[in-house]
Amino acid sequence: MAILFDSFTEWRNYLAQNAEAPWQPVLGYEIQQHRRKEAEIWAKLDQAYVVMKDAVHTGLTEDMTSFSGMVNNGAKKVRDSKIHVLSPEFTLLLANTIAAKEVNSCMGRIVAAPTAGASGIMPGVLTTLETLHHIERRRLLEGMLIAAGIALIIEKRASIAGAVGGCQAETGTAAAMGAGAIVHVMGGNFEQICEAVAITIMNMLGLICDPVAGLVELPCVKRNGSASVIAFSSAQLALAGDSAVIPVDEVIDAMGEVGASMATEYKETALGGIANTPTARAIEQKVLVNSAEMADEGFGDDSEDL
Ligand code: SF4
Repeated sequence: MAILFDSFTEWRNYLAQNAEAPWQPVLGYEIQQHRRKEAEIWAKLDQAYVVMKDAVHTGLTEDMTSFSGMVNNGAKKVRDSKIHVLSPEFTLLLANTIAAKEVNSCMGRIVAAPTAGASGIMPGVLTTLETLHHIERRRLLEGMLIAAGIALIIEKRASIAGAVGGCQAETGTAAAMGAGAIVHVMGGNFEQICEAVAITIMNMLGLICDPVAGLVELPCVKRNGSASVIAFSSAQLALAGDSAVIPVDEVIDAMGEVGASMATEYKETALGGIANTPTARAIEQKVLVNSAEMADEGFGDDSEDL
């Protein structure tokens, strides 16, 4: 019977009793869940990573202008900026993350890790790690398994959906996944993974979900960028030996508590926060009119065909 951990404590206890790396029980769980052989799971992980890499490449090379216009080639702007306030490494991270998320907002192919709204973070983190540290593919895939294990626990104890727990549940979870993956890939141990996850969630706690016009574009794309940066800073703190002080399971429970107490306006309803600003409302109106016009045109075309 494969194990789906209810907590990081359970995961820790399992590792204490079994001479396994942290990613191994997650691999076992995946094998059982999908009724596949181990080689097939590795192949699936590799396939997912290729899709992530493709999304980053697409976002950095093709036109990324969304239907609403709210997404407009942000990744390429970051990469090509004449003024850089960040190091080249951080600029790369920001550009890669935003690139993958822009592909999602422009209806391209992505990996929802854990959701489409947060789909820029894992690609941004992993591709940047690969470029900067020349990480071999197998190690990156192990990091993806660690990330999956992290998401499974957060999903059980709190939520990974913006409609349930706010944006902390989506971009916060993705950032926690990324932070844990970074720690593993860079040679950290399980305790450091726990600290990185806890620090990340502390930094994302309370973030509301307020997509303008109900589209997963703004503030989503920019939040993906910031969340990747938090993943890296949290992983760095953990790898340096710093502690979140509060145990990771308690931090996740706090996230669940905050999510449960969040008003409906801040749970993907586009009724509050940034989505309720005058400018956002004007954009929403414009999107509605444009959508209606397109629907009319589409109906006209179909009528002619008939
Ligand atoms: S604001 Fe809402 S829709 Fe956008 S990424 Fe966050 S949780 Fe997802």
